[in-house]
Amino acid sequence: MTAFAMTIDGQPITPSETFDVINPATGGLAGKCPAGSAEDVNAAVAAAKAAFDEWSQQSDETRRQACRDMARVLGENAEELARLLTTEQGKPLGGLGSRFELGGCQAWAANTAELELPVEVVKDDNEGRIEIHRKPLGVVASITPWNWPLMIAIWHIAPAIRAGNTVVIKPSPYTPLSTLRMVEILNTVLPAGVLNAVTGPDSIGPVLTSHPDVAKVTFTGSTETGKKVMANAAGTLKRLTLELGGNDAGIVLPDTDPKQVAEGIFWGAFINSGQTCACMKRLYVHDSIYDEVCTALVDFASRIPMGDGMDENNVLGPVQNAMQFEKVRELVEDAKANGARVLLGGEAPQGDGYFYPITLLADVTDGMRIVDEEQFGPVLPIIRYTDVEDALTRANSSSMGLGGSVWSKNIDDAAALALRLESGSAWVNSHGGLHPNAPFGGVKQSGIGTEFGVDGLKEFTAIQTLHR
Ligand code: NDP
Repeated sequence: MTAFAMTIDGQPITPSETFDVINPATGGLAGKCPAGSAEDVNAAVAAAKAAFDEWSQQSDETRRQACRDMARVLGENAEELARLLTTEQGKPLGGLGSRFELGGCQAWAANTAELELPVEVVKDDNEGRIEIHRKPLGVVASITPWNWPLMIAIWHIAPAIRAGNTVVIKPSPYTPLSTLRMVEILNTVLPAGVLNAVTGPDSIGPVLTSHPDVAKVTFTGSTETGKKVMANAAGTLKRLTLELGGNDAGIVLPDTDPKQVAEGIFWGAFINSGQTCACMKRLYVHDSIYDEVCTALVDFASRIPMGDGMDENNVLGPVQNAMQFEKVRELVEDAKANGARVLLGGEAPQGDGYFYPITLLADVTDGMRIVDEEQFGPVLPIIRYTDVEDALTRANSSSMGLGGSVWSKNIDDAAALALRLESGSAWVNSHGGLHPNAPFGGVKQSGIGTEFGVDGLKEFTAIQTLHR
């Protein structure tokens, strides 16, 4: 079995202790992960701090080239990383799975290379000149989750490094192996210490996010953990980007053609078996087309093969871990007990792996846990409405605000309604699509700050205003 190592100051570090990483498709062992300690975190931060002195002084062109080089080596090693990702995360190799994720990593790294952060001139006249400069912050701590481990890691790493920072990444203990390997690969084109990776027990996250030599924490994960990270970071007033949970609503207007939108709604809700922060988690459908939309969704969903991601025929994989599987099962059971009608799935099968079937639930209402809580699994509750304003109120009545969508033949009407959603992103006739230059982030308790594009890059910098 492959041995995995942390990377600290460009060197592989293999502590004697390891912990098991489980393949969610089989319940067997995916690999053994180094169990680093608080001392390893300290060593990684020290290496990143030492590397910052030189890296932050490099020319913009050097850092731009580093992003291009990262994109290149990601491409050269994409198949190895995709297979490892499927083994520990569960998502299929093909379709919108691991190879797609690796493609996203390359695209984001390459795009980050082309972003511009010019000096801005506020005033330049006889009295003088005022310039806004963007400077790197220092050591960035990156904490990543288990749903899109590599893509999210690149979303953190590429802009941090491009802006002149150095990084210590700590991946989720559920999916650490592909990140460790990716960091090794990226280190072949980066100076030692610029990008470090540590893995270990749950206790090392707080060590990293409260470390006095960490200038910024960029975190993607649950809202509850995001609050803890914020508290940890408060001691030294670290800069923060928090990309947290969502409970995205989709609203289907009465003029929609159910057959035309079924595929888009399906993928908006079920990509990565629903384990995506900006997946559609609840669907509001007008009473006049409710039954047709339900039928069209069942028709499309029942043709989607789910199984071991290593089998090229499968397009959806298992739930990533036992805890998440249990949460999904519990929410569906609660909905059934409270009167939800199962249109598809709804029963956890016996057998190996954490496979929960594609589940569509009708006759669901606000107030049920499956609507009010983030299920983060392959389940979509379909809620009936009669008044569009009421549907909008219900869509907005969440403490979350990551994304939302409106579905209609009339794009302008749909866009007008979408702009009234309380969400960081809003889509018309699609849900969840991202673009490397389109700012992405949450409002309300879905997060703080923005990722992607120039706005995202700026979050890895501090302003220095020069009056001369
Ligand atoms: P968490 O938010 O707990 O974990 C995400 C990352 O944070 C992991 O690397 C985790 O590692 C780390 N972490 C946890 N606690 C701390 C801490 N106090 N300080 C620093 N780092 C910490 O997500 P879970 O895996 O527990 O999933 C729970 C729920 O989160 C899911 O049910 C889902 O609803 C949601 N979720 C949302 C995601 C999103 O993209 N928005 C992604 C994944 C999950 P460790 O556990 O080792 O500390």
